[in-house]
Amino acid sequence: VSVMVGVDIGGTKVALGLVGEDGSLHGDAREDVTLTGGDAVFVEGLIGSVRRAVAESREEVLGIGLGCAGTIDSARGTVIESPNLPVRDLPLATLVRDAIGLPVVLDNDANAAVWAEVQAGAARGLRHVVMLTLGTGVGGGLVLDGRLFRGAAGGAGELGHMVVMAGGEVCACGRRGCLEAYASGTALQRTAERIADAVGRGLVEEGKGTDYGRGLLRLHRQDRLSGESVGALALEGDAAAGNAVFEVSRWLGVGLANLANVFNPEMIVVGGGLSRLGDLLLEPAREILRRTALHPSGDAQVAIAELRNAAGVVGAGLVAWEEHRSVARVGRP
Ligand code: ADP
Ligand code: MG
Ligand code: ZN
Repeated sequence: VSVMVGVDIGGTKVALGLVGEDGSLHGDAREDVTLTGGDAVFVEGLIGSVRRAVAESREEVLGIGLGCAGTIDSARGTVIESPNLPVRDLPLATLVRDAIGLPVVLDNDANAAVWAEVQAGAARGLRHVVMLTLGTGVGGGLVLDGRLFRGAAGGAGELGHMVVMAGGEVCACGRRGCLEAYASGTALQRTAERIADAVGRGLVEEGKGTDYGRGLLRLHRQDRLSGESVGALALEGDAAAGNAVFEVSRWLGVGLANLANVFNPEMIVVGGGLSRLGDLLLEPAREILRRTALHPSGDAQVAIAELRNAAGVVGAGLVAWEEHRSVARVGRP
């Protein structure tokens, strides 16, 4: 069989997998740390990861699909702007193609993820689907009337930079009050740091018990607070970590209600690293959606990505397959 290498490029990790034409993953996906020490280092690291994936493949690799965080000009294969990556106006598709010698397509990471979920995941067969990828930042993807929606110049679907709080927290994009500043892994870490700081200074509300926040404080003092470590603690039932997740979840709910009112989707799919929290994250957000969105939009289903954090990899591979088929079609007499 033949495969595409699907590559999902985020602010924390570069995930790669071999993707069959039906969206199946062949073999193990690999995950490398995103190198963010400047654009040259980032590109070298990425090319190294792709080269290893191609070399290790036991299947024939026909091409490469890149899904990258940020605004993307997919026709030119460039990353225009990306708040959590050290790149600007970067011709990423050309750079990777020249280094590896295979055809390369580039799209936004969450566009790829929503496409994968519609083709082969939780939103299979649906025509109106919104996706949020909650990772280092918050990515967005839109399938409207059955088609991936990219806008006039590739900037559409940056749902993470929807303002949910005018004048609020500073976002990685440099603006204030974006959903990303409240509902990302980075935001979960920041929320937990705030709780740990308060606990460290003895500022715990009455009735919370003497153990409250001790786990977060310990992690904080060991410099080990991250979205992941807070999430793990919350899943173990730690009350303070649970409250940090709850805060993030309520902001997520505000975002869901806005998106439901704008797009009236059948489903909103939630992926990215935070989606490992499952219903602990989704339930409070769903309730806000139900309570605050207009009818009938508030009835939208809210689901965890069925492909989990592999949605971006699978979607990037599927986009490469589509390009491959359209080139084959054009080439036929
Ligand atoms: P990227 O942003 O590179 O696409 P991910 O989607 O894996 O990568 O997201 C990474 C972010 O998700 C980090 O902030 C990390 O701390 C957070 N994260 C990863 N796993 C969990 C988890 N189980 N619970 C909460 N947050 C998590
Ligand atoms: Mg990602
Ligand atoms: Zn922003």
